[in-house]
Amino acid sequence: MKYSEFFISTLKEAPGEEENESLKLMLRSGLLRKVAAGVYCYLPVGYKVLNKIENILRQEIKSLKANEILCPNLVPLELSLKEDDKEENFCFKDRSGRGFALGTSYERMIFDILKGEIKSYKTLPVMFYCIENEFRDERRPKAGLLRSREFRTLNLFSFNKSKEEVLLSIDKIHKALEKFFKKLDISVVKARNDFSIKGDVSYCDFIIDFENGEYNYITCKECGYISGKDYTPTKIDYMKEDKELNVIEKISTPNIRTIEELVSFLQTSPSKFAKTLIYKVEGKSVAVMVRGDREVNENKVKEYLKASCIELADDKTILEVTGAQVGFAGPVGLKTDLLLVDNEIPNMRNIIVGANDTGYHLVNVNYGRDFDGEVGDFRNITDKDTCPVCGSQIEIKRGIKIASIYKSNDEIKIKYRDEKGEETNVLAVLLSVGISRMIWAVSENKYDDKGIIWPFEIAPFEVVIVPVSVKDELQVKVAHEIYNKLKEKGMDVLLDDRDERAGVKFNDADLLGIPVRITIGKKINDGFVELKFRNENASKDVKIEDFYGEIEAFLLK
Ligand SMILES: [Zn+2]
Repeated sequence: MKYSEFFISTLKEAPGEEENESLKLMLRSGLLRKVAAGVYCYLPVGYKVLNKIENILRQEIKSLKANEILCPNLVPLELSLKEDDKEENFCFKDRSGRGFALGTSYERMIFDILKGEIKSYKTLPVMFYCIENEFRDERRPKAGLLRSREFRTLNLFSFNKSKEEVLLSIDKIHKALEKFFKKLDISVVKARNDFSIKGDVSYCDFIIDFENGEYNYITCKECGYISGKDYTPTKIDYMKEDKELNVIEKISTPNIRTIEELVSFLQTSPSKFAKTLIYKVEGKSVAVMVRGDREVNENKVKEYLKASCIELADDKTILEVTGAQVGFAGPVGLKTDLLLVDNEIPNMRNIIVGANDTGYHLVNVNYGRDFDGEVGDFRNITDKDTCPVCGSQIEIKRGIKIASIYKSNDEIKIKYRDEKGEETNVLAVLLSVGISRMIWAVSENKYDDKGIIWPFEIAPFEVVIVPVSVKDELQVKVAHEIYNKLKEKGMDVLLDDRDERAGVKFNDADLLGIPVRITIGKKINDGFVELKFRNENASKDVKIEDFYGEIEAFLLK
């Protein structure tokens, strides 16, 4: 491609008031333009990069013998909503009043279609994938492609007959992704997302470390265990409080609704309290009780109840089951369908809880004597907890999720007839990879004050050829010869044929992040060109006949 024939719009300054450095560089190098908060247009350079990433991923997924399909972005509401994130979907009605959503998760729609298609064991195992735009009505879209409202994603659906087939599929998916990440030159952390603590990592989130990231994960230096914070079991290693059980008492706590207010009113510590949260889970009311200074882990509750969705109850339900306004729920006399009690609670003595009476709390409440419930692990792990595998100190880190291998949590089951003619459930494994997020991940991974340093495989161009003066006949002739030779070799080359100062061309080449630059200047009269790699500071003069060998050597590094 010649510069004069390809639209490249570089800027000296990033427009707007973006805070993120790599986003500024993406805007400056003409990859993207902002249309609205969280909505971007890919200009030719950016679209090239996006396509390169997409093609590498497609090749890897194709090698799994997966079948590519194309889903509509317009999804009937009932096949679109994951109930637990409906607030972030773009939903609307058509002229006849039928509800639709812009595609967010294609899982339910694919399952609905395939339940009529996969009938026999002979079809299985089988994989499908689609590369689509997804939409999310982010509350706070930011950092460009990191949290945008329209983004490109690959979704893979693997359907299997047996647990062995499931493990084999997961193993293949891991290997394909590893190759993909290697080509993009990014290092990724695998955080378990299935509550497992032993054995090989199978279901997991792929994380890039990022200090302002929203994904929290646990690492243990001692045994190497890594897990998403939402999926980390807590280890029970504390002793029962050895105290007399006191007589239960109802105390007036007027106008006090939060733990903080209660702590200062009673002048005690949050660890002496237990809070009771009321949820709606598939039509049932479920109370979850954790220590006052803990957080309920909704994923653990979901997993325990084998539920596909869970949401906090509304004020009306809370009034029905507690007989009190929000802020006074407690385990004694509670009318929920179920009470889940976190592991720590039975070991506590003389707890302070809500009295299910507006303006009152109970003190000296004890598990077993005053209330019962199903005991389990229902709280979030904290950095004071220890590793659930080896008991060593853990660290909580932050990152960005760029891909995920996960179990389907949809209630739609695909059934097939097995070899004996019996109806059996298909076992599904799902993968999702954020393609546009990958552009963010790579650019955040390597940039300097001159621009983003793209890895060779996904750079907007692999090589840029810069004749210092387009008025010098020899320079122009050699530039074209090199250009043609590299094109013949199948390389993606940019010939900067603009009548600009060399400094301007060099700056643009650096800003675009093109990995290899070949400059043809006065030394061409002695048979030399200058070779410069974007990720190295020094340039070197090489004989014209040697330049290709040098590039090949660079690529092998
Ligand atoms: Zn450990």
